Amino acid sequence: MASDDEYHRRTLITRLELRSAEDEQLLLNTIDEWRDSCNIGSDLAWETCHTKSDVRNHAKETIKQQTGLGDQHATLACHEVAGAIKSCIERRKQDKKASQPQFTSRSMTFDRRTLTVFPDQEKITLTTLGDHSRVHADLALPENPDGYQYDYLTDDEWAYTESTLHYRNGEWFIHLGYRTPRDDADESTTQHGAVLGVDFGVNQIAVTSTAQFFDAGELNHYRRECKRVRGELQETGTQSAHRTIDQLSGREQRYVKHILHSVANGIVEEALDHDCAGIILEDLSDIRDNLPFAQWHSEWAFRKLKDFVEYKAEYEGLFVDTLDPRNTSKRCNECGFVHDENRHSEAFECRRCGKQNHADYNAAKNVAELYLLRGHQPPRGRSVSQYALKSGSRTPT
Ligand SMILES: [Zn+2]
Repeated sequence: MASDDEYHRRTLITRLELRSAEDEQLLLNTIDEWRDSCNIGSDLAWETCHTKSDVRNHAKETIKQQTGLGDQHATLACHEVAGAIKSCIERRKQDKKASQPQFTSRSMTFDRRTLTVFPDQEKITLTTLGDHSRVHADLALPENPDGYQYDYLTDDEWAYTESTLHYRNGEWFIHLGYRTPRDDADESTTQHGAVLGVDFGVNQIAVTSTAQFFDAGELNHYRRECKRVRGELQETGTQSAHRTIDQLSGREQRYVKHILHSVANGIVEEALDHDCAGIILEDLSDIRDNLPFAQWHSEWAFRKLKDFVEYKAEYEGLFVDTLDPRNTSKRCNECGFVHDENRHSEAFECRRCGKQNHADYNAAKNVAELYLLRGHQPPRGRSVSQYALKSGSRTPT
C-alpha cells in the first residue's frame, strides 16, 4: 500500500489471559469460524477476484449466511482472502507455482472496529461471533517496566492500527500493530503516490476516477416519497399529522445518513483497493451555484458525505484534499479541451476530439488530473504524481 511509506510500523507481541472458560470457548469458536470463512471466500473468489472489493462482492454475504461471523469480521475475512490471492498472482507473474489459498492455522485479523486497546487497564476487548458480543482479555505484559511493549502502549505518538490473534499449544497471543507518521518521508520513495478523483453529483451520488458509480436512484426515490407523504400530512393539518411529519423527518435523515455512510465507505475502499495515498474531492464552497437543480442532495448531505469520507480516510491513513471545481465537468479528460457544450446532462462528448463518456466519470478523472496539473500537493510532506483509473494509473503531463 502506498501509505506504508508514510509510517513507521511496529508490532507489540504479548500473551493474552482470558478471564473464563466460556470466553475461551467463544474465542475458539470465533477463530474457527474465521478460518472457515476464509476458506469459503477462497473457494468463491479464487480465479475470479483480484481486489478486496471483488472478494467482498463475491463472498461476504455467503460468509455471513454460512458462519457466525458478524459484518466487520466478514469484511476482514474477505480482505484476508484478497491478500492471499494477490500474493498468488504475484508468484504467478514470476512464473512460480501458486495454487488456491487454503487457511489452516488458528489465527485471525482484527482492526480498530473489532479490537479495542485499554492501555491503562492493560487489557483489550475483542468482538466475537455476531457483531456485538465482546470478550475481555488481559495483556500478559513483562514485569520489567522497560519492556518494549510499554513504549507503544502508553505513547500517544504511536497509534494502534490492526492486529492478529494466534492460538498455539493452548495459549493465546496477540500481535498488536502500531504506527507513527514518518517525519523524514523520503520523496524518492513516495513520488509515485496516486490519488483517487471523486465527483459528487445528482443522479450519481459519487463517481470515482476508477469508474465506481454510487447511484442516487434509490435515495432520490425515497426522498421524493417522503416529500409526497409530508405534503399529504400537511394538508390534513391535525396535531397527530404534525407528529407523524416529525417522525418521518427523523427517519428520513437517518436513512440518508446510512446511505451516505455506505457511499463514503465505498469511496475509501476504492482508494485502498487501488493503492492510493489520498482522495481528491471537489471544493464544496460553491455547491449551490454548481448544482441548482439537485434533488437528492441538500448542501447538508454533501457536507455530511465529505465529513464521512474524511473521517474514514483518516482512519485508514489516507489524506483527503479538495479542488476548485472550475472546468471539471466541461473539460475533456482525453484531450484537455474545455467547452460549455461538451457536456449534455449525463453524456459527455468532446467538441474537439469526439470522445464520449459518462459525464460524471469524465469529471471524476478531471478532479484528480487537474489537482495534479494545477500543482497541488497533499499536506504532511507526501508527494503524488498519478491518479488511479479502472485499471492502472495515469501520470498527467
Ligand atoms: Zn477531447
